[in-house]
Amino acid sequence: GAIVFRDVHFAYDPARPILKGVSFEVPAGRTVAVVGPSGAGKSTLSRLLYRFYDVQQGTITVDGQDVRDVTQKSLRSAIGMVPQDTVLFNDTIAYNIRYGRPGASDADVAAAAEAAQIGSFIRHLPEGFSAMVGERGLKLSGGEKQRVAIARTILKSPPILILDEATSALDTRTEQEIQAALDVVSRNRTTLVIAHRLSTVVSADEIIVLKDGMIAERGTHGELLQRE
Ligand code: ADP
Ligand code: ADP
Repeated sequence: GAIVFRDVHFAYDPARPILKGVSFEVPAGRTVAVVGPSGAGKSTLSRLLYRFYDVQQGTITVDGQDVRDVTQKSLRSAIGMVPQDTVLFNDTIAYNIRYGRPGASDADVAAAAEAAQIGSFIRHLPEGFSAMVGERGLKLSGGEKQRVAIARTILKSPPILILDEATSALDTRTEQEIQAALDVVSRNRTTLVIAHRLSTVVSADEIIVLKDGMIAERGTHGELLQRE
């Protein structure tokens, strides 16, 4: 389903507007990236789409439906979110992946883990949590935690994806590997990518440059590079 942000205004504190009339569309099955400096309001856009907060003026629609008219449950079941920092639940990696689709079979969980290249440790517990049950846990790197979030999203297979700086905390090599995995997941899904840098969103169908709560520029990666 297409996502349409129309004249979106939002402030956490009424005295300090964060989004000041933002309008753009993510056509069905396409990828649109929002880039811009820290504090521009990029993550706020994704939080409004996921309804952690509601817009104060304007509308956000998914498939033509105002997100405020959809139950939070059905909205969130349609959206897969890969956040910046994945916080794992106090249970096995398999449990953490199955959270994306509670009824999924063991085989489907294993296939999703395989696709995200963490197939070998789905039975393990994350380090820290494991001490409580007297087992040796697994220390997961930032990239491995992202792979758990990606496996969860592969299993959930939602029509809409939000990738909120999903690779920004990783080293360059891991970032490239995770990016490749995310490119596969986002193919043919309506995808909103939040990113710091233009270089990480080369393949987006459109890039929106957000500055100070407003759209400063928009275009393809090539178009934006030419204008620099
Ligand atoms: P970006 O993702 O572009 O870095 P954010 O959307 O996260 O920007 O934040 C935009 C602005 O809103 C920042 O100035 C930030 O400090 C502020 N902000 C973000 N979250 C909150 C919050 N929960 N309460 C108050 N201010 C917030
Ligand atoms: P990022 O900047 O990487 O998108 P976050 O989305 O977590 O990270 O936060 C964005 C900014 O909003 C940060 O500068 C953070 O300090 C600020 N922020 C987050 N939550 C609050 C809050 N409750 N009150 C004020 N500022 C906040």
